[in-house]
Amino acid sequence: MGGGATHVIGAGMAGLSAATALVEQGRRVHVYESVGHAGGRCRSFHDDQLGCVIDNGNHLMLSGNRSIQDYIRRTGAQDHLVTAEHAAFPFMNVTTGERWTLDLGRGQGMWRLLMRRLGVPGVTRRDALSALRFRQASASATVFDQLGRTGAIYHRLWEPLSMAVLNTESESAMAAAMWPVIKETLGVGPDGCRPVIAKESLSHALVEPARGVLRKAGTDIRFNASLKAMDTRGDRITALRFNNQTIEIGSNDTVILALPIAGVNALMPAVQTPDDFRPIVNAHFRLPHKTHKLTLIGLICGEAHWIFHRGNIASVTVSAATSLINEPTQDIAERLWRDVSAVLQLNGGSPGACQMGPFRIIKEKRATFAQTPDQNRRRPTATTDFHNLFLAGDWIATGLPATIEGAVRSGMVAADLCHK
Ligand SMILES: Cc1cc2nc3c(=O)[nH]c(=O)nc-3n(C[C@H](O)[C@H](O)[C@H](O)COP(=O)(O)OP(=O)(O)OC[C@H]3O[C@@H](n4cnc5c(N)ncnc54)[C@H](O)[C@@H]3O)c2cc1C
Repeated sequence: MGGGATHVIGAGMAGLSAATALVEQGRRVHVYESVGHAGGRCRSFHDDQLGCVIDNGNHLMLSGNRSIQDYIRRTGAQDHLVTAEHAAFPFMNVTTGERWTLDLGRGQGMWRLLMRRLGVPGVTRRDALSALRFRQASASATVFDQLGRTGAIYHRLWEPLSMAVLNTESESAMAAAMWPVIKETLGVGPDGCRPVIAKESLSHALVEPARGVLRKAGTDIRFNASLKAMDTRGDRITALRFNNQTIEIGSNDTVILALPIAGVNALMPAVQTPDDFRPIVNAHFRLPHKTHKLTLIGLICGEAHWIFHRGNIASVTVSAATSLINEPTQDIAERLWRDVSAVLQLNGGSPGACQMGPFRIIKEKRATFAQTPDQNRRRPTATTDFHNLFLAGDWIATGLPATIEGAVRSGMVAADLCHK
C-alpha cells in the first residue's frame, strides 16, 4: 500500500505514536480528533482553582518501556521527562507509619536484583524469585491466586504494583498480564525499572513534542472532527464520514482507528472488545510550601495509592477506584487529604491532618478496561476484515496491559501494518 496516505483517527497516545512513526518513515499522514485537544486519557490542562497546569492523572512510566523510549526519541522529548538515576521507590504504610524504600539499585541484569537486599521489611532476596510466578500463571489465574500467599512481598510489592499496572483489584486481575511488564523492566535489571515522569506536565512531555514533529512534516491535527461512519466496498474502506466533512479514501490509502473502545463499538459493532472497565480517581491538592524535588511515594493500607509531589501540588492516584468514584468530590478530597497530610508530614509530625487548601478531583470512569482473564480474551488484534483498516489503542491485543506503553506500541504495530 506504499505511496498513499494514512488517515489516523484519534490523537491519544496510540494515534500520536502511529502518526509520528509513519511520518518518520516518510508517509503522508492526516490526523483527526473529536475534541479540541490531543492526548486523550493522557493530557494536561490549566486549572483555575489551583492556578496551574495539572494532568488528568499521574502517569508513571519506567525506563524499560522500550516503545515509550522510542516515542520519546522520535518526538525529541527527552528534555521534557525526568528519569530517576536509581530504581528506588519510597513507600509508607499509612496505618502503622512505617516507611521504607524499595531500592533496586543500578545496572543491567536481573541477577543484580537477586543479589540485593531490596530494602522492603520482611522481604528476603529469595522472595524476589516469586516474580517468576507471573510467568507460570495460567490464562485464568488472578494475581491473588498466583501470588496471594507469598507473604510480605505480596502486600508490599506485587499487590501495589499490579494494581498500578493493571488498574484492577488483585483478586480479579489477570496474573499472566503482568509477565510482559516484569520481563521488560525487572527482567532488564535495575536500569529497566527507573521511574520516568513528565517534568512539567503530560501534554508538555508526551503530546506537544509529537505535534511539533507532525507539524514539521506538514501534518496538522484536525480537531473537533468526530468520525461518525465509514463507507465500505468489498474489503475496503472508501470514505470516512465526520461530523463536519467526508474524506474519500484512495486505493493506496490506509486508515488507523486509534479510538477508545466506545468509539470502535459505535463504528464497528461486530468487533468483539472488552466491555468492563475500571475507574481511576486523581486528586490534586495545593500545598502551603513548594518542593524543589519531584517525588513519588507509594502508600500501603491507605485510601490513596500513590502521591506525586511537584512544586506546590500533591497529586494522588487511586487505581481501580470503584468504591470512590460515585462519592461526592468534597468527601473524596477529605479522605485522600488525610493520607497526603500524613505522608508528607504537613502537620510537622503532630497527629491529625493540617487544613486542606484548594483541590481538584478528577474522576476517569473508564480509565482502562478491567484487566481480568475474561476481559483480556476479548481484546481484538490490530487487523480487521478490511485490508486497509487497522486498529490501535491500549485495549488492542499487543500482549501488554492497558498503559501508555501498550498504547504507544499498538500505534507502532498499526503503522507497520500500513506498509504490508
Ligand atoms: C487517570 C489515569 C491514570 C493513568 N495512569 C497511567 C500510568 O501511570 N501509566 C501508564 O502507563 N498509563 C496510565 N494510564 C493509562 C493511559 O493513559 C492509557 O493507556 C493511554 O493514554 C491510552 O491511549 P489511547 O490512545 O489508547 O486512548 P485514548 O487516550 O482514549 O485516545 C483516543 C482518542 O480518540 C479520540 N476519539 C474518540 N472518539 C473519536 C471519534 N469518533 N473521532 C475522532 N476521535 C475520537 C479521543 O478524544 C481520544 O483523544 C492512566 C489512565 C488514566 C485515565
